[in-house]
Amino acid sequence: MDNITAIFKDKKLKLTPQRIAVYKYLKSTKEHPSAEVIYKALQEEYPTMSLATVYKALKTLVEVHLVQEINVGEGNFRYDGNTCPHSHIQCLQCGKVDDIEVCFQDLNEKISSHTDYDVLTNQVYFYGVCKGCKEK
Ligand SMILES: [Zn+2]
Ligand SMILES: [Zn+2]
Repeated sequence: MDNITAIFKDKKLKLTPQRIAVYKYLKSTKEHPSAEVIYKALQEEYPTMSLATVYKALKTLVEVHLVQEINVGEGNFRYDGNTCPHSHIQCLQCGKVDDIEVCFQDLNEKISSHTDYDVLTNQVYFYGVCKGCKEK
């Protein structure tokens, strides 16, 4: 919580209850929810919060690097309160996204020999079938 207060103050952004609620929700889950899922989850506690507000809160949180946006293709985004570099695996059947706690830092060095860019970061996505879907 201290983190978000300090960062918002530093960026001169208004720390609204909605923004805090979205951030807290993302910090409390490893589910990588979509904006719609966050919206539905917070509806009971914040009945006046619209989906547009959730989108705006997410946009701000991504901009200040408190939340990671994951592009799961076809214009769909998922959100992650874990901003440490890590990889993701998505189930091709149910669409669920999980973390892979491996950092592909050495990949940056490998790629450096194939480009004249200074490679700073990377996003590695894996796709497969999750345990739940396999058991079906
Ligand atoms: Zn699945
Ligand atoms: Zn993640």
